[in-house]
This record gives sequence, C-alpha cells and structure tokens, in this order.
Amino acid sequence: MEKIYDVIIVGAGPAGMTAAIYGKRAELSTLLIERNFMGGGQILNTYEVDNYPGFPGINGFDLGTKFSEHVDKMEAERVSEEVKAMALEGEIKVITTEENEYKGRTVILATGNSPKKLGAPGEERLAGMGVSYCATCDGAFFKNKVTAVIGGGDVAVEDAIFLARGCTKVYLIHRRNELRAAKSLQTALFNTPNIECVWDSVVTEIKGEEKVSSAIVQNVKTKELTELTLDGVFVAVGNEPNAEYIKGIDCDEKGYIRAGEDCVTSVKGVFAAGDIRSKRLRQITTAVADGANAITSVQDFLLR
Ligand code: NAP
Repeated sequence: MEKIYDVIIVGAGPAGMTAAIYGKRAELSTLLIERNFMGGGQILNTYEVDNYPGFPGINGFDLGTKFSEHVDKMEAERVSEEVKAMALEGEIKVITTEENEYKGRTVILATGNSPKKLGAPGEERLAGMGVSYCATCDGAFFKNKVTAVIGGGDVAVEDAIFLARGCTKVYLIHRRNELRAAKSLQTALFNTPNIECVWDSVVTEIKGEEKVSSAIVQNVKTKELTELTLDGVFVAVGNEPNAEYIKGIDCDEKGYIRAGEDCVTSVKGVFAAGDIRSKRLRQITTAVADGANAITSVQDFLLR
C-alpha cells in the first residue's frame, strides 16, 4: 500500500533536523528530505558558533554533524533528493523529487535561505575564480593574499576576522560607517591589525581576466572611485529565501513565508520553520525552536 507520512520535512538544517527529532519523539511517521547528502544547512559553512548554549566556540560543521547524528539515533527516515515540485493545497500533500514522489498529511518547509548576490559587473563571471560567498569554504585558497569582504553584518565581520588569520590584508567594505554586526564581533574586528575598514563604500565592479585582480570601490558620500588590488572578494550582504518552489503560500515582501511562532502558514497542513519563516532573528537557536514548535502545530493539526 502507498505510504502516507504524518509529516514530511523539507530541508535538513537545524530547523528541519529538530523537527525530525521531535516528530519521532511524538511517534509520527516522519520523512526528512534534504538536498545535500548529510544535511546541516548553512551552519556547515560556519567556522565558529559561539552562541549555541552548551557548545561555546563549536565549529559549525561539528554542530551540524551532532544534529545529524541525533536524527539518525531517533531513526527518522531521511532521503537525499532535490525537491522539484510540491502540491500543498489538498488533504494529502505531494512532494516530487527527481527520483520519487512522497505523500504526507502535513509538510514542514524548512529550506532556509542562501547568500544574496551583490549584482556588480564581474561578480557572476568571476564566481569561483576569486568571488566567493563562503569564507569558511574558500578562505584557505587565499593564504598570504589580499582579500575584501563586502557587508557589515555578523557574517561579513566573522568572515573578515576568519580571513585575516591567513591573508596578509583584508578590506571590509561597508556601505555605511556603522556596522550592524554584534558588538563583540566589532571589538574583535577592530583589534585585528591586518583588517582595514572601507566605510561608506560600495563595490561597483569586480575586475579580472581568469581570476579576480581588483575591485572598483565608490565612496557613496564623495562619489570618489578607488581601485583596490585584490586576489579575492567575499560577498556577505545577507541572504534570500530558498523559496523557488513556493506557490500559493502567503509570503512577506522579501519572499519569506509568513507564519507566527506556531509556524502555521496560510495553507492548511503546511508549516514553515527556520530561516525560511518571516521572523526577526535568524539564528540556530531560533531555527531549533521553530522545529519544535512546528511539530507541536503538526500534532494539533493531525488531531483536529
Ligand atoms: P545581515 O545581518 O542582513 O547583514 C547584511 C549586511 O550587508 C548589512 O550590513 C547590509 O548593510 C549589507 N548589504 C546588504 N545589501 C547590500 C548591498 N547590495 N550592497 C552592499 N552591502 C549590502 O546579513 P548576514 O550578516 O548574512 O547575517 C544574516 C543573519 O544571520 C543575521 O540575522 C545575523 O545576525 C545572523 N548571523 C548570526 C551569527 C551569530 O550570531 N554568530 C553569525 C552569522 C549570522 P546595512 O547594514 O547598511 O543594511
């Protein structure tokens, strides 16, 4: 007979993995669908996580691995397949991957978000040839080189500090003269001698033939243009939701799924958890909380 899961969770970052653990604890038939072979989401690319209680300073990959092992210990069913389509409106939801079709009474969307592009000329052409969106993934290629990080948030500042350990010089290029990153990160940044902040400035072009050789930087106040000689450009200007597949669900102006703390969306039986949800604070702690809340809402829905 065709299997119909109580809950299908799409996305195996901290929110999805927590939902899988809570789903199994609630004795729901639970399927976790993940794009990558091991799950973990964005934390896999985080060098150091310093605000997840109980694990000060843990490497993101290690924390992701711990979450994943916990899911396995709970014996949640999981597959590594890319979702191609979803039919979420009916009583029975249908999730189609390249390989299979899965059916569930409820679905938790936990697909997170991805780094935003800058949109500067040269960025796309030189992606992977000096332009990167992940300092922890690619930083090692820039040992003893000169790099720039663009952005003023937690990620940009963390990336600059991380890169400064191996690079001779790191520019932090920010469009304002004030950072939005946590104060503790700012202190660490300002105490790192080989980081130079380039304030009130935007990158208008990334140049290079086979690989990045420089960036044109414009001061937004004076309009003055400067060319910085660089080996690498790390773009850290925020994220956008992984929501290509979302249709017919109420989303906010940035494309994040509208749902409250209970993770209930505008479509019956569909829940949103983690970074894909419209919310104030996107952290591992808040993603994990969503995973637990989403399963509680799934239980309420199934009992109705
Ligand atoms: P973010 O906090 O949204 O910061 C994005 C930065 O990029 C901002 O400084 C923004 O400038 C700048 N920016 C945006 N669009 C730009 C553009 N087109 N050109 C130039 N600059 C642009 O994003 P994030 O740093 O990726 O962090 C994402 C979320 O993860 C945040 O909620 C963050 O707190 C969280 N996070 C937390 C930790 C931690 O707690 N350890 C670590 C990493 C990430 P403005 O400031 O002028 O808007």
